[in-house]
Amino acid sequence: IKKIGILTSGGDAPGMNPAIRAVVRTCLANGIEVYGIYDGYAGLHADKIVKLERRSVSDVINRGGTFLGTARFPEFKEEQVRREAIQNLEKHGIEALVVVGGDGSYMGAKKLSEMGYPCIGVPGTIDNDIAGTDYTIGFMTCLNTIVDAVDRLRDTSSSHNRISIVEIMGRYCGDLTLWASVAGGSEYVIVPEKDFCEEALLAQLADGEAKGKKHAIIAITEHVTDVNALAKRIEEQTGRETRATILGHIQRGGAPMAFDRVLASRMGVFSVELLMKGESARCIGIQNGKMVHHDIIHCLEDMKRPFREDLFELSNVLF
Ligand code: ATP
Repeated sequence: IKKIGILTSGGDAPGMNPAIRAVVRTCLANGIEVYGIYDGYAGLHADKIVKLERRSVSDVINRGGTFLGTARFPEFKEEQVRREAIQNLEKHGIEALVVVGGDGSYMGAKKLSEMGYPCIGVPGTIDNDIAGTDYTIGFMTCLNTIVDAVDRLRDTSSSHNRISIVEIMGRYCGDLTLWASVAGGSEYVIVPEKDFCEEALLAQLADGEAKGKKHAIIAITEHVTDVNALAKRIEEQTGRETRATILGHIQRGGAPMAFDRVLASRMGVFSVELLMKGESARCIGIQNGKMVHHDIIHCLEDMKRPFREDLFELSNVLF
């Protein structure tokens, strides 16, 4: 293999830059030319393709976001659009593509692979919602940002004897919420994987108050319910001031922490190694500390992420 392309796609995640850096440096060390595709699949279709050198990835290991940019580009679901994208790659002589992104980006890579174009998926998303890997790039950094915010909410909630609801990202995966709940010592955790029972929540809040707790933090994943409406109902039921905080996009930003830099570096190197071995339509993961790869189609269609029941239990026991 002589020329490899790389793009980042979907929601940005801290650690995407170190992943790009690892791909670029591994390619160059093996005499492979590497091309950066700007703005995800949108840029692939618009031919925003630039050759990368060693220096292109200088000073990016510590930078959040992705210097290649990313985009949502629903048009990529159309076969004709993908065909034009493949033509762009072929025009530059690029023989294979590394896609760093979430499950939506994997769908794009899967479809390119099905059209005969070799792709490798690298899991880059804060959500940790991809099967076949224990952790996605960006998850740990995002988690730390959330825990920092929860700590701050705890200070003010405690001072005011307030109930705080914190809405956390994750799409339809409760991992960020669950881990943040354990690490931030929240009083209650609500995740999409478990049915939400408002009576149980109210009972736990009453229990906490009886124990003498001056604050209560409720960690909840986005899309489960309207958190402002929930705050209003809790305030009515408990007579205690209740406020909802939607953490929003601050969760995505910031320098990648060491764990994500190491993970991204390992995954970036591994993706190029797989392409050099002639592999295609694979997605990379880390399982039990080791680099693994799975069939991308199998990963998207059949594999399921196990829910961390142990952490869910833990958060309920430790409250
Ligand atoms: P995150 O979960 O972190 O937001 P993601 O990769 O899941 O990341 P999406 O917006 O779902 O983010 O997907 C990114 C892009 O992948 C889409 O904008 C689109 O260009 C492409 N894509 C998504 N689904 C498909 C599909 N079914 N076929 C082809 N391309 C797709």
